[in-house]
Amino acid sequence: MGSIKHHEKLDIDNPHLIFIEDKPINICKVRCRDIYKLLLKNIKHEMQPFRSRITPTYNLTDNNWTALYSTPFLLTTSTKLRSFHIRLTQGLLYGNKHLNKFGYKEDSNCQLCTTPLQTFQHLMIECPIILQLWKKVEDGFANVFEAPLSNLEKELGCVDENDECYIAKNLLLLIIRKYIYHCNLDEITPTFAGLISKVRYYERIEYDISARNDSVERHFSKWEDILNSLSIGIPT
Ligand SMILES: [Zn+2]
Repeated sequence: MGSIKHHEKLDIDNPHLIFIEDKPINICKVRCRDIYKLLLKNIKHEMQPFRSRITPTYNLTDNNWTALYSTPFLLTTSTKLRSFHIRLTQGLLYGNKHLNKFGYKEDSNCQLCTTPLQTFQHLMIECPIILQLWKKVEDGFANVFEAPLSNLEKELGCVDENDECYIAKNLLLLIIRKYIYHCNLDEITPTFAGLISKVRYYERIEYDISARNDSVERHFSKWEDILNSLSIGIPT
């Protein structure tokens, strides 16, 4: 009798606890749902793998990531551009290295410069052919891109929300990235003229959407700088 009492006292003072999401739960009261949560936590990444890989490369802060994740709806009304941006920030865009692994392409080399194992990063920031295109972009849109573009801007976008041209810059960068990406998929060499026609194409798409939503004025104020660059002409 005495020893039972002793055990009861022990259990009250020191119940067997399990910590689920930092909350102590008496082990006798644990439900299936709690165990499920615990198991799920073990297989979930602490941080999205693409984010943990890219964060040290560009010294990105949590605020920078918030900016990157929240921009698609701010930048564009085109669902294609939005979904491309979402795939970009989730690390779901690939160079030939991965496209070859997935069985989508026969070659893993960069078809533009023959570098082996073309990654998405190579395509956006390293490939000499694409670097020439970026140079033309910097010259052709000098009123949007006041300084030479950084690798971060080329690969992911401008994360400085105080930048005067934040929207126009990121919208343009997004169209350029998508154009380069699709040229690579189709094994076409991207050209500045081809890019310009894409920019015009997306401007028209957004214009049509704005006309239906009675927001044409907002459309032109967003596109003003880009359209001004286009009217100056195409550099050779
Ligand atoms: Zn290349």
